[in-house]
Amino acid sequence: MSGATFLHFIDNSFVPSATDRYFDKRSPVDGSLLGSIAEGGAAEVDSAVRAARAALQGSWGRMSLAQRTEMLYAVAREIDRRFDDFLDAEVADTGKPRSAASHVDIPRGAANFRVFADAVKNVPTEFFEMTTPEGRKAFNYSVRAPKGVIAVICPWNLPLLLMTWKVAPALACGNTVVVKPSEETPGTATLLGEVMQTVGVPAGVYNVVHGFGADSAGEHLTRHAGVDAITFTGESATGSAIMKVAADGVRPVSLELGGKNPGIVFADCDFDAAVGGIARASFLNTGQICLGTERVYVERPIFDKFVAALKVKAEALRPGHPSDKTTGIGPLISLAHRDKVLRYYKHAIEDGATLICGGGIPQVPDSLAGGAWIQPTIWTGLAEDSAVVREEIFGPCCHIRPFDSEEEVVSLANDTPYGLAATIWTRDVGRSFRLGTSITAGIIWINSWFLRDLRTPFGGSKQSGIGREGGIHSLEFYTELRNVCVAT
Ligand code: NAD
Repeated sequence: MSGATFLHFIDNSFVPSATDRYFDKRSPVDGSLLGSIAEGGAAEVDSAVRAARAALQGSWGRMSLAQRTEMLYAVAREIDRRFDDFLDAEVADTGKPRSAASHVDIPRGAANFRVFADAVKNVPTEFFEMTTPEGRKAFNYSVRAPKGVIAVICPWNLPLLLMTWKVAPALACGNTVVVKPSEETPGTATLLGEVMQTVGVPAGVYNVVHGFGADSAGEHLTRHAGVDAITFTGESATGSAIMKVAADGVRPVSLELGGKNPGIVFADCDFDAAVGGIARASFLNTGQICLGTERVYVERPIFDKFVAALKVKAEALRPGHPSDKTTGIGPLISLAHRDKVLRYYKHAIEDGATLICGGGIPQVPDSLAGGAWIQPTIWTGLAEDSAVVREEIFGPCCHIRPFDSEEEVVSLANDTPYGLAATIWTRDVGRSFRLGTSITAGIIWINSWFLRDLRTPFGGSKQSGIGREGGIHSLEFYTELRNVCVAT
């Protein structure tokens, strides 16, 4: 990183915009100017992809698995060593409370490198000995080869965590990467370039091109013929656009997309745990988590009590500066995103919702008035066909509806074009197993939320994505499986 200017990182060097184009990065906390970001276009993308290709064919491609994984452990140690720099960068870009970023985002950034370095050393291989009816004999064995140059396109909500979730397994498998971070969050991807330099990762293995999506760095990257596979996290509509581009050249895609996830609370639940769990699922990271819960279904006998208890949790979330230890909720990522969320808040009232709490912009000190602050919001009384109940808002809000039977709530929960996650709260073991198979989502939490073993499959069904990442599933995407048949 060079001062307050975020440069591309290509072939082991920080490079300025080839066209002298830069755009502003403003703080979500107070609207102040944080710096300017180089905007990449076709030229920078081409340089980065060429560097990535050369590294594949050069020293990175020749490294042994042991050497490669040692480098990834060194990357993890260097992130740990520069923990405060990563924390400062992530908090500046997103405005999230420091306590949250220091517990989740930065440790997971380092953990991703360790987990996938471990995983790649334990990948099983297939072996078959064969004899034909005529007596010809052969040994067949499978080998995993890297896919090649991987385009990694990331969102802004958990920038380091989600970027390293893709970069670490891609590198562990011997690929090279060109990363296009979100235009909202250039910081930690740029810092990771410094880490790669310090650790001695060969030039061209990790590249970053900053910029926007359509008609900018993102689209140039996905269209580049030198890219062998695309891994993307972001909105479903963007995923769909990327998939169309990837069809040219029949390139594989891994898509981790949006969600409109149900939270289901049965009357037999541990009430306090359920209220706490749904409060986290609806409001953590200011509701900007793909796995979050914007649709809550509560069994009728405890409905009123639950709504009242969740209201208390929401109203206790005090907005404030990221460094203030008493801050309960940060701002949204930008004023533009707040406008979008506020349109849904207005829409809810127009559609006849009962506003339980929130619904607008909170009071904040004058010094923070230019930030993208928003109130945690709860509604009841909306019809299931309201856009507020059907579309992903990506803000700190939820609609709560009562239900009367397991069959009814399964049908309500599954009536969505998305299928990313669900969180279910019940003490009935049999029911938890039944819902574990009848809810159409990639990740189903019982009496928990956002609890992950990184070896498990992660991804969504329906419009929430294609493919699974995590553990062996990431290694499946980032490698090409070949069979070798040796006649004996
Ligand atoms: P987004 O789709 O607007 O942007 C994501 C990235 O794609 C950005 O880097 C952007 O510049 C780039 N991009 C946009 N258009 C592009 C194009 N045509 N070609 C290439 N690149 C393009 O998403 P966002 O607003 O940054 O993130 C929020 C979304 O991400 C939400 O929908 C959320 O649910 C989703 N998300 C999903 C997961 C998951 O694991 N399923 C995780 C986090 C976020």
